Amino acid sequence: MIKPLILAAAVLFAGGTAAAQPKVIAHRGYWTAPGSAQNSLTAFTKADSIGVYGSEIDVWLTADDRLIVNHDRVYQGTDIDMEKASAKEIMQIVLPNGKENIPSLDDYLSLVASKPDTRLILEMKSLSDLRREDLAAEKIVRALRKHKLVERTDIIAFSINACLAFKKLLPDTKIYYLNGDLPPKSIKALGLAGIDYSMGNLRRNPHWVQQAHELGLEVNVWTVDSEEDMKYFIEQGVDYITTDYPERLQALLKQ
Ligand code: MG
Repeated sequence: MIKPLILAAAVLFAGGTAAAQPKVIAHRGYWTAPGSAQNSLTAFTKADSIGVYGSEIDVWLTADDRLIVNHDRVYQGTDIDMEKASAKEIMQIVLPNGKENIPSLDDYLSLVASKPDTRLILEMKSLSDLRREDLAAEKIVRALRKHKLVERTDIIAFSINACLAFKKLLPDTKIYYLNGDLPPKSIKALGLAGIDYSMGNLRRNPHWVQQAHELGLEVNVWTVDSEEDMKYFIEQGVDYITTDYPERLQALLKQ
């Protein structure tokens, strides 16, 4: 009797492992939903309303040392540079949904704090000066502490300097590297939680997923929008998929 039981347990275990599904992260919030906009407060609310694991934002440090939430360095159709303009000037920009402006990080975190079911995936944008990156990391950590969100936030950055600045400030927080130029073993040596690489990068280096897992690291992939790509990365066994179409991914994962 024992042998069949062990076999059944092994089959169950293997099945359980294979069935581990990637968690869904809404890229720049659920901005493709009606009435939403990238990195808007609405985008976080919409992401929260469909029950994603996490919602991502991009954070800049302005010329007057404030933190604002936006993706591009220069806002499309303007000459306003996020690092060179004041927060006041930046926050006058109306988002494409016509009903809200570029938010401050403080306003964004107030909203996140009110919606406890969704994790925040916070990307700090690379800045032109490493000392300003260190300052931005300090200010972001202070803001997360103010809103009691440290435990509900994961950090991502293209800048190794920024990743290490956060690691020093928040040793227990998960920090993922975005730039795609380092193999998992280097990320492990730096003490980071994992890799958060582009689709193209992980398609070119498919062995990195397994290597990362063997090292106890996690793998996130962006920005995965087509069903074909979603299926590929589900099959690859990544831990997180970052997408502009979170409901499309959720529907696939339910099949
Ligand atoms: Mg981003």
